[in-house]
Amino acid sequence: MHEYSVMTQIVDSILAEADKRKANKVEEVDLELGEYTLLGDEQLKFAYELMSKDTILEGSKLNIRHLKGKIKCTSCDYEGPVLIAEDSPHRMVPILTCPKCSGIAQITEGRECLVRNIRMVVPDV
Ligand SMILES: [Zn+2]
Repeated sequence: MHEYSVMTQIVDSILAEADKRKANKVEEVDLELGEYTLLGDEQLKFAYELMSKDTILEGSKLNIRHLKGKIKCTSCDYEGPVLIAEDSPHRMVPILTCPKCSGIAQITEGRECLVRNIRMVVPDV
């Protein structure tokens, strides 16, 4: 599952950050998810819980914030939200054609998957 490989990187980066600040516990993590990453919230949360076991992330909360996406046409100057086609009840596919001229459009925003904020407990030295 795609969510697992993404979450492995996220958990690694959180642990690296916590280690840098000598935190002994992480309480909450805010994640920003572009709407065209095509990652499922539930799957991400499940993967997070699984991977946080026996680490300082265990029992912490994962908040997912969604970011709107944007496309840009390569032939005209159109720039705007991406249209999504549902080709089956379980799959959402971004339509990468320009609504103005039917040219080829590229996703310019909405593919990010970033850790925005980590609340951690750092013991007094
Ligand atoms: Zn266009």
